[in-house]
Formats: sequence, C-alpha cells, structure tokens
Amino acid sequence: MATATETAPVSRPQIRRTQLLIDGRWCDSVSGETFATYHPATEEKIADVAQANAEDVDRAVKAARRAFDEGPWHDMDARDRGALMLKLADLIEQNAEELAALETLDNGKPISDAKAADVPLVIDCLRYYAGWADKIKGDTVPIRGNYFCYTRREPLGVVGQIIPWNFPALMVAWKWGPALAAGCTIVMKPAEQTPLSCLRMADLALEAGIPPGVINVVPGYGETGAALVAHPDVDKIAFTGSTEVGQIIMRDAAQTLKRVTLELGGKSPNVVFADCDMDAAVAGAEFGLFFNQGQCCCAGSRVFVEDSIHQEFVERLVDRAKGRQLGDPFSPATGQGPQVDKDQFEKIMNYIERGKEAGADCKTGGGRWGEKGFFVEPTVFDNVSDDMDIATDEIFGPVMSVLPFSEFDEVVERSNKTLYGLAAAVWTRDVAKAHRLAAQVKAGTVWVNCYDVFDAAAPFGGFKMSGIGRELGEASLSNYTELKTVTMSLD
Ligand code: ADP
Repeated sequence: MATATETAPVSRPQIRRTQLLIDGRWCDSVSGETFATYHPATEEKIADVAQANAEDVDRAVKAARRAFDEGPWHDMDARDRGALMLKLADLIEQNAEELAALETLDNGKPISDAKAADVPLVIDCLRYYAGWADKIKGDTVPIRGNYFCYTRREPLGVVGQIIPWNFPALMVAWKWGPALAAGCTIVMKPAEQTPLSCLRMADLALEAGIPPGVINVVPGYGETGAALVAHPDVDKIAFTGSTEVGQIIMRDAAQTLKRVTLELGGKSPNVVFADCDMDAAVAGAEFGLFFNQGQCCCAGSRVFVEDSIHQEFVERLVDRAKGRQLGDPFSPATGQGPQVDKDQFEKIMNYIERGKEAGADCKTGGGRWGEKGFFVEPTVFDNVSDDMDIATDEIFGPVMSVLPFSEFDEVVERSNKTLYGLAAAVWTRDVAKAHRLAAQVKAGTVWVNCYDVFDAAAPFGGFKMSGIGRELGEASLSNYTELKTVTMSLD
C-alpha cells in the first residue's frame, strides 16, 4: 500500500534561473524584454523569462565561437571532457526531484512520469555520450600510390540547437550529449512554453565545471530560433519540432549552407494482428498514444486492428481510456495531465470536432476535462478511414484513431500512406510476420510487441517528412563532426 508521502502532491520547485546564459554569465536580454511561462494545469503564471533577440543571439554565438576556437574546450583532452559530462549527469541525479518538479510545473506532465521517465533518461543519455567523448576516431585508408591516408573526425564547431516543449529536459540531453562529446560548443533555444528545466540544467553544467561559453542558452519565441538559423557563424542547426518549422529552418539554413538535422512530426502506425498477446497489445496501444498526453512525435496515433479481433480490442481499449486518471500533475496518482497550452488544446479540440463531422465513431472522450487547465479527455475514434484529417494529420494530443484491416499487404500499404515516417509498431506472435512488417514499413524506428522503448544507444529519427539525420546512438555523433581526409606522400 502507498504511504502518505507517496500519495501527497509533490511540492512546487523553486525557480532559480530565468535569465539568458551567455559566456558563463546570467544576464538580462539587451532589450530587457521578458515573456511569461505558465503552469498548464491551472493557467497560472510561473515566471517571467528573459527573451533573447537577434543581438543576444549574436552575443551567445560569439561566446560559443570563442570557447570553440580559443577556449579551454578546444584544447581539452577528450577524456577530461567526458569527465565533465559525467559530473553534470551526477549533479542532475543529485537534483533529480527538483528537475522533475520543474518539468511538471512548466509542461504539465504527471510528476510520476517526470520522475520515472524523463529525468532518468536525461541522466542516462549524458552518461552514454560521456563515454563516447574519447572514442571518436577516424580510419586509415588504403589508397593507390605511395601515400599514407587517414581520416579525422573533427568537431563541427558552434551548433545552434532548437528544441520543443514535450520533453523539455530530455531534449536538452539528446542535443547536448552528442554535441559535447564531439567537442562542439552550443547555443540552445528552449521552447517558449518550457524554458525552465533547460536553464536549470545550464546552471548545473556551470557548476560541473563545463567552461564558460561552451553552453549558452537563449530563451525566446520562433524569432529567436530564426536568428540562430540565420547567423553566419553557426555551423549547424539541430532542430526538434514540427515538420512545418523544420521546412522553414531547412530553407533558411540554405543561405549559409549550415548542416541541418531535423527530428520532426509523425503519424505512426501501430499494427495489431489477431495472433497477438491481446493484453499486451491493448496496454501497448494505450501507452503508445496516451503517454505524455499524446504529445509525442512518435505517438501511435493510427491503430490498425485486424478485423477478427477488432470489436473486442476496441472495447478493451475504451475501458482503459476511461480508466485513465486525469488531475493535478503534482499528484503521484495522476496518469494524465493537461496539454501544454491553450493553442495546443484548441488545435486538439478542433481535430476532435473534425473527426466527428467526418463520421468517425467517437467511442469515448471527445471533450474538455474540468474547468481549469488545458485537459482533454482521453479520446478513441473507431472506424476511422484513411483519408480523414484525424488519420492523416499529427494531432499531438490524446486522440486515437482505430482503423480496421484484413490483410497483411493491405496494412503495410495503408501504414505507409503518409507523408511521415518516424515510428511504427507491430503486435503479433508470428516472428516472421513481425520481421516482414519491420522491413516493409517506412519508418525510422519499429517496435515489435512493445512501444516507446527508448535508449540512448538506439538511433531515432525519421524517414520522409519526419526528418533528416538521427538522434541518439553512435549515429548522432556524425551529425556533430566533420570528416577530414589527410593524405601524405611517403616518397
Ligand atoms: P510545436 O508545434 O511542437 O510547438 P514548433 O515546431 O512550433 O513545435 O516549435 C519547436 C521549436 O522551434 C520551438 O523552440 C520554437 O520556438 C522554435 N521555432 C518556431 N518557429 C521557428 C523558426 N521560424 N525558426 C526557428 N525556430 C523556430
């Protein structure tokens, strides 16, 4: 049985940092402007945060350039760089409760998720990449003639990193980990909805001894991100967010031919065959879509269910959706919090209306929950057809579309009938069928009899309009290094 302390709401964290971090110093923006961040469960203002404009971005880029070209980062032994990253991971571990509470306050996600998923994954990711710092190496290349040819993997330089609000701290770790391991310096723009955990992590990075200018943080809206993309002295942009903004970034980055990696949207198929373990598949479909309030780029939002089990599957899914506990995200019992802000809330409600108008069968949910905060009832639409908006567009909310199917080839074709290609899942006891589907589905990640299994070592990213490049794993390191070929005459 849970003790009183395990069930009592977690207290709100202190807000320690709301300014820009440039060259190791906390400062106001040049304009003195700020923007407010809100707690999505109550709509109360949490804090005013300094808003960086193009001049602030320029100051941050100059600091990052200096730290890269002249600063101690440049000359530091790779093993020492890894040690600083481990120190940062240790400090985050020591402050894990505070960081989890900041995520819940700023983003609205349940404290139980922030504690059990977000923060442990942050720590793991930084430790994983700390281990890579002294293992990035080139090759010796046998070429024709009397030459010695080898390659070097050199750090790319100053990287601009622009992240979204759905996993604020985790996205920081995914971006800082490979960049720091490779020896790059960073100017990061957190999402305007959720800057607080990034600022606190930057604070801990300074405390860990990561030198001034290596990590700079410039909170702000899209224009701040655009200034980073336009800056001629930024060598690369790493972006996670919507496909629409990803397209803008790729276009704008072309002016200076920056390297670009993009981790974008999705409309992932979750394919359930009749020969699956039904309990596991129902639980997996629920988790795959409703986790993080449906605010996951890889959410399993198109659940294809084989005809013969369709009715029973939907009944069980609806029971589970109804059983989800919405409420105060600071309460450890809460399983679903609010959406991040009013814009997202309204966008989701609009999609729900469009689903109903198009004739999809709304089995449960479909409305707002409560009177305060941006809560949306867990919603399941059945008998959705492929061309409905709720089946084609990324909703980024707790809205599931169930689509019945009858044949293997049919479901592969329908799964791939999307502009996106981020993730997919398949539930079956037939191993060969699972591998056949995994090979044929156009997605960067395929989960078999599981969903949302993330690990710092496993690459993640999109086919098609879900992105360019890969996050995590060894694959991500190549996005932060340039390959140099050195050829030397042996005559
Ligand atoms: P979402 O739809 O999930 O809010 P966005 O793609 O709009 O995602 O935002 C992701 C990140 O991109 C945020 O940090 C946001 O401020 C930033 N951003 C938005 N517009 C631009 C832009 N034109 N250039 C650079 N960054 C931008």
